[in-house]
Amino acid sequence: MTKRFEKSFTQQESIPDVAIERACEILKSGRLHRYNVVPGETSEASLLETEYAAWQDAAFCLATTSGGQALQIALRAAGVTPGTKVLANAYTLAPVPGSIHAAGGKPVLVEIDENWHTDPEDLRAKAEASGAKFFMLSHMRGHIADMDAIVAICEELDITLIEDCAHTMGARWKGIRSGNFGRVACFSTQTYKHINSGEGGLLTTNDAELASRAVVISGSYMNYAAHGAIPEESVFQTTRLESPNCSARLDNLRAALIRAQLPILQDNVRRWNERYSILQNGLAEIPGMRVPERHQHEEFVGSSIQFQATELGPECIPDFVSSCGKRGVVIKWFGAEEPDAFTSRYDSWAYLDDIPKLPSTLATLATTCDLRIPLTFSEQDCKELTGIIAEEYIRHCEVKRAIAS
Ligand SMILES: *Cc1c(COP(=O)(O)O)cnc(C)c1O
Repeated sequence: MTKRFEKSFTQQESIPDVAIERACEILKSGRLHRYNVVPGETSEASLLETEYAAWQDAAFCLATTSGGQALQIALRAAGVTPGTKVLANAYTLAPVPGSIHAAGGKPVLVEIDENWHTDPEDLRAKAEASGAKFFMLSHMRGHIADMDAIVAICEELDITLIEDCAHTMGARWKGIRSGNFGRVACFSTQTYKHINSGEGGLLTTNDAELASRAVVISGSYMNYAAHGAIPEESVFQTTRLESPNCSARLDNLRAALIRAQLPILQDNVRRWNERYSILQNGLAEIPGMRVPERHQHEEFVGSSIQFQATELGPECIPDFVSSCGKRGVVIKWFGAEEPDAFTSRYDSWAYLDDIPKLPSTLATLATTCDLRIPLTFSEQDCKELTGIIAEEYIRHCEVKRAIAS
């Protein structure tokens, strides 16, 4: 009954040996800066851009210091200027509104439904009411909304779609890679995402002019020709002087770490999903808990799992979370009013001009619990986790019912 889970929810796997060897070579060379190459050498950062563009099936790619910087660069390169309205689903992490704010944009928050998906009807309503022509779609926690509906609305209303794929690197919708639905997509290689370089980001697009702006904004100076997956020189002729330098280049050391993990990403997706399905099947059997079925068109990456503590409700969830925590099971509650660690609810972003009431989003988040699934957890660990969560959940539901009667 009082079994404790001993592993850490923040312990990632070791960086592959090939990456460590390559990193040592780069450190010995002293050439960490992406434009610091000897004649005939292509930098690690440029090689990464070429390889990631091929992997993502995009024409162009830019490596950046972080996913958040990639988002900000994408917004600027797509044409967001001070005062531009940018639609954004309200369930996401703080770097998303932060990047819109940094680019001078004004977020127009959009509702999610009970499955954590952007609500296409609300997207249409908010787009029509605000006149916004940009939509930053965050595939939060890897839940991919109805992309057919979203792309159709964006086309009809002439909205530029920017995808935040921090949680969908390696995922697909109807066989198409997440990130290939909009005009530009952004990825993160921060430690808790699908590739771990400590910090880092990637931007992909098929739009030559946008790509050229992004490269210059990332801080290329006039060294842009050294990049790996870029449009031809003529495209840079106007953009190179029009785009501000926002200094967000990736260095060769981190690029080497990312390059070495790209070939194992697909296998890691499979390993995440094996762990995810054990948790999903186990949690779905707990009475009074809601674990939505994933959409049939979605090939997701189960690097975390969400469930709704519907029977407990917001009054009892803090106690349940705390009891699980005492047994080593770290659950995050997205409904908390106070931002905690990495999570925050949209109404705590006090710097926004306008914080709307979004009843559907608030109702969904009120019971949303979240569990990280690091690959250092075995399948047996996932079974143990399910057992502890089930015991605590059932116990807390019984307490709640006893108090009510
Ligand atoms: C992590 C994250 C980002 C930003 O990535 P960083 O590399 O940490 O800047 C953006 N969006 C979401 C949904 C994220 O989880």
